[in-house]
Amino acid sequence: MADIIKPTQPSLPDYDAYIREIKDIWDTKLLTNNGPKVRKLQHRIREYMGCRNADLFVNGHSALTIAIQALHLQGEVLTSPFTFISTTNAIVQNGLTPVFCDIDDSYNIDPKMLEEHISEKTSAIIVPHIFGIPCKIDEIERIAIKYQLKVVYDGAQAFGTKVSGKHIGRYGDITMFSLHAIKVFNSIEGGLLTYGDDTLQEAFSLYKNFGISYYETGSDVILPGINAKMNEFQAAMGILGLDLVEKEIETRKTLAHIYIDRLSGVEGIDTYPYEKGIDYNYAYFPVRIKEESFGIGRDELFSRLKKEGIITRKLYDTLCCDYSCYKERGYLLDVTHARKIAKEALDLPLYGTLQPGEVEHICDVISMIQKERINGR
Ligand SMILES: *Cc1c(COP(=O)(O)O)cnc(C)c1O
Repeated sequence: MADIIKPTQPSLPDYDAYIREIKDIWDTKLLTNNGPKVRKLQHRIREYMGCRNADLFVNGHSALTIAIQALHLQGEVLTSPFTFISTTNAIVQNGLTPVFCDIDDSYNIDPKMLEEHISEKTSAIIVPHIFGIPCKIDEIERIAIKYQLKVVYDGAQAFGTKVSGKHIGRYGDITMFSLHAIKVFNSIEGGLLTYGDDTLQEAFSLYKNFGISYYETGSDVILPGINAKMNEFQAAMGILGLDLVEKEIETRKTLAHIYIDRLSGVEGIDTYPYEKGIDYNYAYFPVRIKEESFGIGRDELFSRLKKEGIITRKLYDTLCCDYSCYKERGYLLDVTHARKIAKEALDLPLYGTLQPGEVEHICDVISMIQKERINGR
């Protein structure tokens, strides 16, 4: 067993397979600019998800930015404060006002909170499927139709998750996925947009390549685009990783169930109540620490585990609206539940190369800490 158990590890394909996959780049000399490997990976992802369109980008954040730009969103956007800061930054960078709505026990937006925050300025709902756990899609979509709002899911953490047998990328107007190193499926860095509306295709290819439109005898710049192109080395990594993703999720699921079994007897630790009808991707293993019954709070458990060589993460200890960059802006907020969850949530290590014995060890240590505390009182 390793001395230190890391909170996460990237999933890597076989080294020799990667060398074989990139070999022809030296023949074609095509390193980037919508090369054959990017197109191949887009095709494979469409097949894997059963979605109509899939476009690749250099990273998830740029992909989300471009999704917002291509939909010409304006005014206010309903969003969640319990997410990685990328979601909020993308909204604000594009001149939109984030309206932070509270979350529920699924760590995701509480649909009941959406409707009361809608104003005549609201143009969209941009919410994450946090920890790969899907939002309440049916209710979000009902509200979007009723008020004619666009829906962009930040599915950065949700690659491989399915709802009612359908890949999560097939819901909403657009879903963004991050293919960053530590996501369930990676292309080192990478981003992906999946969507149904074919007319967005052209906009996406323009926005990711400076807005340059090519024609027979020259070119023109028809919108102020950025550079967000995925390169061929990234795509090669993705092509190999995609073949491994189902196995990665299977392994994570097995490990998650060891956690669930072993922690079910430990007072004061709530594991996530996984629901039927959803195929989770087990991107993270969030638990909630109830200080009253566990004996110590989340922060103290985090430190105790660290001393034992077990590194966990406090995602998301700080709500997006509470970072100094956003705190002073005077957004109207009632995020009481999110604040509570942000202080109770702890992500235990979970990744394909984590050993079942390591998971058992983590559970034993947690249980030992709990017993110690309760007896010591
Ligand atoms: C990882 C992540 C992003 C950003 O993706 P990058 O590929 O790192 O740019 C955005 N939103 C959420 C919720 C994420 O977890």
